[in-house]
Amino acid sequence: TAAGFIDNEFISTADSGKHFPVYEPALNIYQDPAKGTEIASFPDMGIKETEMAIQAAKKAFPSWSKKTAKERSTILRDWYNLILENEQDLAKIITWENGKPLAEALGEVRYGASFFEWFAEEAKRLYGEVIPSPNREQRMITIRQPLGVVGIITPWNFPSAMITRKLGAALAVGCTVVAKPASETPISAVALYELGKRAGVPKGVIGLVTAHHDTKAIGKHLCESQDISGISFTGSTAVGKMLLKHSADTVKKVSLELGGNAPFIVFEDADIDKAVDAAVTTKFRSSGQTCICVNRFYVHSSIKDVFGERLREKVEKFRVGSGMEDDTTHGPLINKTSVEKVRSHVHDALDHGAKLLTGGKESENTHGYFYPPTVLTDMNNNMRIANEETFGPIAGIFSFDTEEEVLEYANNTRVGLAGYFFSKDVSRCWRVAENLQVGMVGVNTGAISSEVAPFGGVKESGIGREGARQGLDEYTQYKYINMAI
Ligand code: ADP
Repeated sequence: TAAGFIDNEFISTADSGKHFPVYEPALNIYQDPAKGTEIASFPDMGIKETEMAIQAAKKAFPSWSKKTAKERSTILRDWYNLILENEQDLAKIITWENGKPLAEALGEVRYGASFFEWFAEEAKRLYGEVIPSPNREQRMITIRQPLGVVGIITPWNFPSAMITRKLGAALAVGCTVVAKPASETPISAVALYELGKRAGVPKGVIGLVTAHHDTKAIGKHLCESQDISGISFTGSTAVGKMLLKHSADTVKKVSLELGGNAPFIVFEDADIDKAVDAAVTTKFRSSGQTCICVNRFYVHSSIKDVFGERLREKVEKFRVGSGMEDDTTHGPLINKTSVEKVRSHVHDALDHGAKLLTGGKESENTHGYFYPPTVLTDMNNNMRIANEETFGPIAGIFSFDTEEEVLEYANNTRVGLAGYFFSKDVSRCWRVAENLQVGMVGVNTGAISSEVAPFGGVKESGIGREGARQGLDEYTQYKYINMAI
């Protein structure tokens, strides 16, 4: 059902009387999206439904938070099992609404499910502590308590995993939730909720508000509501900053996973083949639409040409098409705006002296939001790609000569989410890992995401960490208890 979920009921109409369309990015008509391939129509909810979901979650909080950790863990574990039992269907839904190839979509379903498994386990380990008291008459302990009702806002690039990464941690510690998925990809969200209901998540504990027109007002309402104690957002830096401002008056705990501008540095002593393989997956996963995708390649000047050439060879083997087709390696972008941004970044780079190694030329195809995977070299700092996240299938190669110089380039940005580098020199590996201004570093690897490791950024890339042991911190607070004896 195309529906929101409030107080344990799927709701397929909105007070606004309106619905919003969901399109299939692989087939949609580029020139006129309004005439596109609509695959679902969701109720366009607003403040009224948001408030209903908040009140239901508020009512559910006392009993959910008072359940034992093991009881909550069992429900999360059952939900995890149901996701795996239905993984093929869930993957197809992701491909349908997001466009990524089926194999990648299946990877996302499993990655997403892993957060439920992980947090079902961590739920049982929310330890407080006994503090050695400095005086004989008092005993000091801390306990950890759930925040209360939390508001969750998620993006379209991981329609399933961004929801589970937040829900898993929130539910494990005893919070209740009101979530608003991206309007481009609400189908995965409602499918997850259906399984959550089957897993026995109690009434009111998880709400889902589907919306397009009132997105901004709903975000503001969640931030300003006195009944909401925390906000967790993944999306653009601009929206994240706005939500942080809206949350100031109620002094909410806010977790933000925002944009990155990931550098990928290849030093002269690197294993080039390994670096090229990692470059291919880390740059072009989801056609470049993940927040930890490489945005800037810095390759030592002595190996720049050979790196560019090997990357070009690999990229020319890609097969771009609908994610539903077996031999497709790379799918479309999410919408017309994305294609236009990518195109403008390529044109800007070429205008400023970049050289095209492959890609760059769009086909006459008027269906689907496709952009050809592109490799550019001879990049320089006057180009937009040097400073702005492209979020598309463009690899731009800059060159450098010294470690000091490349660290300065890599860190010369207001954001810092992921960073990658390749070198065989152990001392350099420590130095560079410590000096990159990012929240996550891949050393001789481009594959860093895992439910057991803390995901998050520094600078304007965000606040807080998701997954891992640290993921629980975002949804809990410490209470210090001093007992006189
Ligand atoms: P992206 O570039 O990934 O689309 P957005 O920040 O626009 O990033 O979207 C991420 C999520 O934030 C989506 O669920 C979207 O609907 C929501 N969103 C977009 N604009 C706002 C806003 N002004 N206030 C609250 N939420 C918003």
